[in-house]
Amino acid sequence: MLLGSTGSIGRNTLDVVAASQGQLEVVALSAHSNTELLKAQAKQFRPQYVVVTYPEAAARQDWTDLPPGCQLRVGRDALVEMAQLPEVDIVLVAIVGRAGLEGTWAALEAGKTVALANKESLVIAGPLVTRLAAQRQARILPVDSEHSAVFQALQAGKRQEVRRVLLTASGGPFRTYPLERLQQVTVQEALAHPTWNMGPKITIDSATLMNKALEIIEARWLFDLDAHQIGVLIHPQSVIHSMVEYIDGSVIAQMSPPDMRLPIQYALFWPDRQPAVARQFDWTEAYCLEFYPPDPERHSAVDLGLEVAERGGTAGAVLNGANEAAVAAFLEGKIPFTEIVPTCRAVLEHHCFDPSPSLETLLRLDRWARQEVQRWVCSRTV
Ligand code: NAD
Ligand code: MG
Repeated sequence: MLLGSTGSIGRNTLDVVAASQGQLEVVALSAHSNTELLKAQAKQFRPQYVVVTYPEAAARQDWTDLPPGCQLRVGRDALVEMAQLPEVDIVLVAIVGRAGLEGTWAALEAGKTVALANKESLVIAGPLVTRLAAQRQARILPVDSEHSAVFQALQAGKRQEVRRVLLTASGGPFRTYPLERLQQVTVQEALAHPTWNMGPKITIDSATLMNKALEIIEARWLFDLDAHQIGVLIHPQSVIHSMVEYIDGSVIAQMSPPDMRLPIQYALFWPDRQPAVARQFDWTEAYCLEFYPPDPERHSAVDLGLEVAERGGTAGAVLNGANEAAVAAFLEGKIPFTEIVPTCRAVLEHHCFDPSPSLETLLRLDRWARQEVQRWVCSRTV
């Protein structure tokens, strides 16, 4: 079952399914509003169900020509219903933002393996999500390329031999921009990522480095690390997807050309490997790999991510909610690019911290953080 099939990860996942020569079958696909593409996917992949989570979009579409045997379901509850289907083995969560948490939760509750692209699920509710997975003996397999790399590199040693995990970051499109120019960057410039082709929200997150902040928190919960065991390196080529440093000084890295179909395929077939569906290196070419430490001024989001990973509790939900609202405000032209990260920090600093919150508290604080950002955005435009 594939949640968010019409997005960037969703479409890459269906490429992997198409290349699997019948080894992978799609039971259900979900989309929010791109019903035209969802219908086309249904015709090609013949799922038993298609789910539209945005009822208004479903109502505008003609569904009479869905392929035989394919049923339409509408609304968020349908995701929960689909996750319980006995014929579903793996739920790949490729919904963007907080909306993905519901699908992750439903799949884990049903005891299914979750192939997780939606990092926000772990950022918002890492301890609760990982506890639920343990209770239901359900596995969470990373799809995020850095976490897939760490997952693979962790197989080279024992857990107590791990010194730290190094997440790589491309540095985004403004890596070499003078700091004073960042104030003026346009939405279009921020949406042009140098090495990855992704949905708009994560593309902005990559440009602010907030994506790395979210990935630090994701790694903290996914691999049960202490925040001080997580480091970040700027690596503009996006060829080494992350590394694990062991106590003896060995560093095990996973590398491949940047193409999300590889980590998706790895998660869907784990523990096996399959012939390449993604691009491979051409070793007749010369490659040059660079690494350098983040600059605290330019890459302030990294420190924010480390702080939130260390604090735990409600900090992740507040950071994520504030970031989603700030990114939306930037995309609507309401705040400059350079205000996204400081806005998140400000909201985080004046929230009422709870070290061991319930899911309800996390969702309430998520809403609160979004309202705080909106209030602030309105106050600066009057
Ligand atoms: P996208 O914007 O391209 O696609 C988002 C998908 O989510 C679409 O199918 C859309 O229909 C669905 N969706 C949007 N809002 C929804 C809602 N309110 N309820 C239900 N469904 C909704 O995003 P993407 O780039 O594919 O990213 C998806 C997730 O994967 C994100 O969490 C992102 O951080 C993560 N991720 C993406 C990449 C990448 O290369 N794109 C890499 C690593 C991780
Ligand atoms: Mg990533």
